[in-house]
Amino acid sequence: MGLFRTKYLAAAAVSLVALSACTPTTHLMQPSQMGKNVSDAAMEQQLQIPGPVVLETVTSASWAVPLAGLVNLKDPQAAGLKDHEEPISVYAHVLRHPVHGNFLVDTGVSAKILQSPAEYGLNWLLQRGMKFERMQIKKPTAQIVAELNGPLAGVFLTHLHIDHVSGIPDIAPNVPLYIGTRESTASYVLYAATQGATDAILAGKAPLQELPFAMRPEPLAPDAFEAVLDIFGDGSVFAIYTPGHTAGSTAYLVRSTQGAVLLTGDNSHTQWGWDHGVEPGDYTQDHTRNRENLRKLKALVARHPGMQVRLGHQ
Ligand SMILES: [Zn+2]
Repeated sequence: MGLFRTKYLAAAAVSLVALSACTPTTHLMQPSQMGKNVSDAAMEQQLQIPGPVVLETVTSASWAVPLAGLVNLKDPQAAGLKDHEEPISVYAHVLRHPVHGNFLVDTGVSAKILQSPAEYGLNWLLQRGMKFERMQIKKPTAQIVAELNGPLAGVFLTHLHIDHVSGIPDIAPNVPLYIGTRESTASYVLYAATQGATDAILAGKAPLQELPFAMRPEPLAPDAFEAVLDIFGDGSVFAIYTPGHTAGSTAYLVRSTQGAVLLTGDNSHTQWGWDHGVEPGDYTQDHTRNRENLRKLKALVARHPGMQVRLGHQ
């Protein structure tokens, strides 16, 4: 038994060394002209006035995953927390703009993914690793799209993790898919395990369009973001470049009919992480940068106390 274990571990180590970093997907990517770069001050000047966008956050699925993925349990503030299966949700945010039409921020979950996971590159190991058996669909993406009462004009992806692209099988092939700068081109070792599935989910869909964030020169003011885009040029929806969780992670700030709403993406998955300013755990790529952008998002909300906050998964 001891020998078997040693051999097994050695084989596992060799295969880990063989894993080289790769990009989240090999799907075609092209630069987008969507949006206009603006200052933080320009983004913030009208936030107290309700905007034109009707925003609805839909819980597409419930799920449970280890807390150690969702919260950095090594942080001193997390000393009292024990790892456990934490209940979370998978969301799609529906944006209805009176002029530009219907958009989604992130995609929820397609029933097709859970019905035939192998077709989407989700092999047994990934299904086990991602705890897919704990995922329960509440409203599949197909139904969210059907209830739009009009065409879907585009999808803004906060990042390319599988639980954020999992609704794409229900999205028509001509619908533009927008991502943050470097999101699809930066390499990371864990993408070696997920690239095949992400490629299969995106197969046959429109090319990814990388938003044209213009990075501000360093050094930045303490609370300034690296780049901000006014998506439609009318001050209704802003994309905020917040890398860290992934290389191109993007948060969205929506001036809705109910007031300003911040969609954090996975800068924070959980309420606890947001409340304590502690970034995600194992699921995050660059902890320092994630934590810094989480701090800046919290500072933005503190400057605008009426702002609603919708977190990545809670
Ligand atoms: Zn994520």
